[in-house]
Amino acid sequence: MSLIRETEELFNQQLSAWDQAGSNYKALEGVVAKEVDVDGFPFKVQFNPARIVSSAAKVDTKSIQERKCFLCEANRPSVQRGVEYVFEEQGDNPYTILVNPFPIFPRHLTIPLLTHTDQLIKGRIGPMLDLARKLQGFTLFYNGPKCGASAPDHFHFQAGNRGFLPLESHQDCLNRDLLYKIGNTSLYMATKAINGLFVLEADSMPQAEELFGLIYSLLEIREGESEPMMNILCWHNEGVWSIALFIRCKHRPSHYFEEGDRNILISPASVDLGGVFITPLEKDFNKMTGSEIREILAEVCISFEETFALASKIKNRLAK
Ligand SMILES: [Zn+2]
Repeated sequence: MSLIRETEELFNQQLSAWDQAGSNYKALEGVVAKEVDVDGFPFKVQFNPARIVSSAAKVDTKSIQERKCFLCEANRPSVQRGVEYVFEEQGDNPYTILVNPFPIFPRHLTIPLLTHTDQLIKGRIGPMLDLARKLQGFTLFYNGPKCGASAPDHFHFQAGNRGFLPLESHQDCLNRDLLYKIGNTSLYMATKAINGLFVLEADSMPQAEELFGLIYSLLEIREGESEPMMNILCWHNEGVWSIALFIRCKHRPSHYFEEGDRNILISPASVDLGGVFITPLEKDFNKMTGSEIREILAEVCISFEETFALASKIKNRLAK
């Protein structure tokens, strides 16, 4: 059976057999959302109370060491089942496709490695591209260890059904600047609305991997970090991969730490940067306007100036 077919069956099975997942997906049908324009890009804000577990997750080293890892097979609820996925080139290290019990998307997957290994993307863009191709209809995403991942100690991707994130269909609102094109491989940067965003498009997996590797090698690893701070979205449509790469400079925005009225409990990750800001608290949902979104983007992703500087470094390297 194909991977996508097995995944669809897993969904149906889990939603009927697992009460917590079933009721959270049911509740998702009733969540409130609003559209907020930011420099011509149609962001959404979703009020999603069940996501408090992720947005407020304690991800400091001590808290992580003291909790039982919820992605390790031994600690998962007995009702949770999974579908095995193996990336052929890394056959000794299988992944498990799981239904995410705290959904943002009507179909939301978590895809951990079987082994308890740190969240690091290096060497794993291959399986991400392969999964994006095999799980047709899904967008894959990766949150770096201090970029929204609530299990920075256990490597995992996530995936959500396509047609949900504005970024998939509204790139015309970003004034994309073409930095590089050879054959069917292109690299763009957004010059409007979302700072720190590069988009790679390719119809060949080795070329997509190579271009990603080149950009990765030019990114700064900040003090105390184990990899350049980033979020990645990736989908495959009509033979072409799109990879959206958000270059981060900060984990949580200052709003997260403010006292009183100015506090907004938000911990931006791939989904937020892809156009859907998740607020687990109603007071924050009401508060979020274009100016809050603009402030948050300006804080957590590198500035447009830094994006331009990085773009010229990439161009120089590609010209060699
Ligand atoms: Zn684990």
